[in-house]
Amino acid sequence: MTAKRKDLLNMLCDLSDLSALVTGSENIENFLQRTVMLVSEHLGTPVCSIYLYDETADELVLKATVGLNPESVDRVRMPSGQGLVGTVMANSQPVREGHANQNPNFRYFPETGELPYESFLAVPIQKGVVKIGVLVVQHTEADYFDTTDVTALKATGAQLAAVLENARLLMDLQRLCSIPEKSACNPSFIKGQRASGGFAFGRATVWGKSHARLIAVPGEAESGGMADFRRAIRQTAEQLESLQQRCVEQLPESASLIFAAHFMMLKDPKFIDRMIEQIEGGMPATQAIREIAGQYIRLFGESPHPYIREKVSDIEDLAGRLLSNLNPPATDPNGNSGGKVVIARELYPSELLKLAAESVAGIVLANGGVTSHVSIISRSLKIPMVVVQCPDLVHLSEGTPVLIDGDVGNVYVDPSQTIIDRFDARNRAGQQVAVQPEAQPTGPTRTLDGTKIHLFANINLLAELPLASQMGAAGIGLYRTEFPFLIRPSFPSETEQYLVYRRVVESMAGKPVVFRTLDIGGEKTPAYADADIETNPELGLRSIRFTLAYRDIFEQQVRAILRAATGSRTPAIMFPLISSLDDFKKARQVVNDCIDQLRAEGLEHHDHPAIGMMVELPAVVETMPEFATEADFFAIGTNDFVQYMLGVDRANKQVANYYRPEHPSVLRALNRVVQVAVAHRKPISICGEMAHDTAMIPFLLGIGMRRLSIDPQFMPIVRRLIASLALEPCQAYARTLLTAGSIAEVQALLSQRPMPDMSR
Ligand code: PEP
Ligand code: MG
Repeated sequence: MTAKRKDLLNMLCDLSDLSALVTGSENIENFLQRTVMLVSEHLGTPVCSIYLYDETADELVLKATVGLNPESVDRVRMPSGQGLVGTVMANSQPVREGHANQNPNFRYFPETGELPYESFLAVPIQKGVVKIGVLVVQHTEADYFDTTDVTALKATGAQLAAVLENARLLMDLQRLCSIPEKSACNPSFIKGQRASGGFAFGRATVWGKSHARLIAVPGEAESGGMADFRRAIRQTAEQLESLQQRCVEQLPESASLIFAAHFMMLKDPKFIDRMIEQIEGGMPATQAIREIAGQYIRLFGESPHPYIREKVSDIEDLAGRLLSNLNPPATDPNGNSGGKVVIARELYPSELLKLAAESVAGIVLANGGVTSHVSIISRSLKIPMVVVQCPDLVHLSEGTPVLIDGDVGNVYVDPSQTIIDRFDARNRAGQQVAVQPEAQPTGPTRTLDGTKIHLFANINLLAELPLASQMGAAGIGLYRTEFPFLIRPSFPSETEQYLVYRRVVESMAGKPVVFRTLDIGGEKTPAYADADIETNPELGLRSIRFTLAYRDIFEQQVRAILRAATGSRTPAIMFPLISSLDDFKKARQVVNDCIDQLRAEGLEHHDHPAIGMMVELPAVVETMPEFATEADFFAIGTNDFVQYMLGVDRANKQVANYYRPEHPSVLRALNRVVQVAVAHRKPISICGEMAHDTAMIPFLLGIGMRRLSIDPQFMPIVRRLIASLALEPCQAYARTLLTAGSIAEVQALLSQRPMPDMSR
């Protein structure tokens, strides 16, 4: 046995008495330091370090070291998956390198003085599936570590896991307790997910917090009499009216209701008159507002119904406005979010609209709840938005400068002037591009060899219609009708829907419009629907299942569509999430019943719309021939198709790696679906995100897809790509892709295919 092996045994023996090591340490930092010293001594390595995983930031943080610069402790942070240490953590596998800096994953942190160390060995510290950190040893000699060292270090890591897990939790606790409430999370850079593109720079305001704080915390001195109170009410009503007006201009489908709760409360005797009573009884106006609003907030907040709890933010907002108008704060005279970056734990679509009306600069959602309809609405409204996994961000001090880069999902807190200048320059460049609009496309889109490809637009809100026309869309291939439902405080009536749909039809001036019926449920459930909590909402009462269950809501919508389509040559109704021919027939029967009703009522309507369905479920693939004899047309929704085909939640970051549109099963299933539709001469389009993916378009054309429905902003690039492609090579390429049996093979083929020059 060599001296080194003997030391390995001693190391394991010493570490087996962890309780002695823990009790003999003054504090957690000291325990970690003693551990790295012990390991480095027994392994004879000049460097040993422990990195602990900070879940909130999804980063590894250097917590103890011998050999590296001690000042780098707590300062060296690396995202999970990056650098050698991050790779160990992400893959839960040891890494042993004889020449560390030759590994492509090697990352150099100058502050650690790491460069002279050649050999590198790191093992994950993990308890079950819980990732705790990484234990690293380094040596100046090349090829210093052998497989026995790996085994010994793994055993060490396993032994340390339980204690380190507690240490990590305690350190988190200490951190939270020692930081004042307002600035518990103040990192300067947060990596998040992009939800809506663009960049925004402004002062931070925490959604609901500033008003909530105004209500909860009594001011220095309560103040204001009856005259002040009445003036504050008048001012608040005026401000709300102008916000309402702006909202209607930007989002006609939100109708006049977005601030309805505010207006109603301003007129509610129980609310305002009770404040007046208190003021008449000698209470200062500010205190009366705080007390009465506080009672309502408590009452509503305790409700089991989400639509009632949603009202809490309306009351906070209203009371906050009244208080701001009584005592305008120096920094924020209107108490609104105009020009600011709003930090919110989560947002309802109706709240997003209020922020849009106030011209918010950008939004950071500081919690894991990625509610994608909020992201889609912010995209439609062109409000930059980033979603971060950092709940502490809501403790950020009001007014802190924040810059968000919605294009890549970065958030900079209190950014340096250099960062601000860089983004300003990018913004100016972007504006220059925007003022030189793409030449109005003339004629249909054709491939290099002349095949016509129909490019349709996906639309969520009326505000997107002008862009669709400007980009030369051949029509609307997917109108997601749920958005008017999601952004309103209650279900819109048939007439309200009719007015919205009529605008869509008129704006497309005779071009086809595909109305997809309500796709709510799952993560797109409006608060007012007061739906039961479902364990698996994506597999629950969603979409066509919801509308078939609530036939009155379904009928109102279908009637509104048929009435709006009067005089139109090409209206089409499409059902989402169809899983069986039976459901398709039931849904079609609802349309036919509505046509009969409207005829009997003598109301003008369209009486022979095309009736089609989305292909979003694997169940459809096998029964496509039967569907093809019944449905008038198909649209493949790859966003859901990939989710259900591969059993991966499309909004769950943890399994994002499994969400693979290029999976061979997805490609082969798409091919089969398209072949059947083509054989039956039924129009088929694709309207999920895959339709604008330039890497996938050659494959889609190759399998026979001739209709793409995409967000209008992608039209110029997609059009240029199509014009550069000839059909025959695309067909050959698709055939090759369809032979690939693994994701890796498909990816290799996708990366080998040289992309045509689209810069022309
Ligand atoms: C899809 O699933 O691809 C689709 C277009 O529908 P949505 O994204 O609205 O679910
Ligand atoms: Mg879908």
